[in-house]
Amino acid sequence: MALQRAADLGCTTMQIFSHNPRQWDVKPLTADAVQQFRSARKELGIDPVFIHTSYLINLCSANNEVKEKSFRLLRNELDIADQLGAEYIVLHTGTAHTDATEALRDAARGISRLAAEQRWDAKILLENTAGERGDLTSKISDLNLLINETGSDLIGGICLDTCHAYAAGYDLRHSKGLESLISEIESNMGIDMLKLIHLNDSKKSVGSGVDRHEHLGEGEIGISGLGNVVRHPKLTNAAIVLETPKATEEDDIKNLKKVRSLLK
Ligand SMILES: [Zn+2]
Repeated sequence: MALQRAADLGCTTMQIFSHNPRQWDVKPLTADAVQQFRSARKELGIDPVFIHTSYLINLCSANNEVKEKSFRLLRNELDIADQLGAEYIVLHTGTAHTDATEALRDAARGISRLAAEQRWDAKILLENTAGERGDLTSKISDLNLLINETGSDLIGGICLDTCHAYAAGYDLRHSKGLESLISEIESNMGIDMLKLIHLNDSKKSVGSGVDRHEHLGEGEIGISGLGNVVRHPKLTNAAIVLETPKATEEDDIKNLKKVRSLLK
């Protein structure tokens, strides 16, 4: 139903979970479900498709069992993406319990192990985080470090979440903050690596390190800051997906209307 819902909302791209993101066990997809998804997608023209990976994945857990389970779940996410023909899976690499540099190396080792298998068409997009409770990759340079340490095209690029960036200290209320974020991307992995923007407003203040998404224009970044993001000529090649709060069906309609008005 996800594809039809996206099309009904007038969307040309979408992000889904391929299973319950808070459970380790993943029920395999039936051949029938895969077939239905692929044909509906072709018919509705939703492209690209992003799969957000499970919240349980932590490639740098201090617990080796969790680390190994995370690795296997990530592999499963890639398998499902290929089954469905999804182009990208979006990944938060994990949470550091001790040293952040060591944790980043751990995460890179996990991704490198997968990259060595060389068997997926789908690519991984690394998402920036708010840096809450030791979450890795709140800085663009951290994302770049992972890309470089892994050295594989299994990582297809990055996903920029505006709420996370703001909470991590990138002041997107004004053009100046956005310009400095863009130049950081340019000087690290390059702007072509930016494949996806999670367009969210932020409930919490700049640099708070707290990840609380808000409706567009109702948070701290505000409508003019978000307008600068969607209209920036260097960002127009990235797909845009909303992860704004949803209590009723109206919420998505309202937020999508706002983005479209910003793009006019
Ligand atoms: Zn996000």
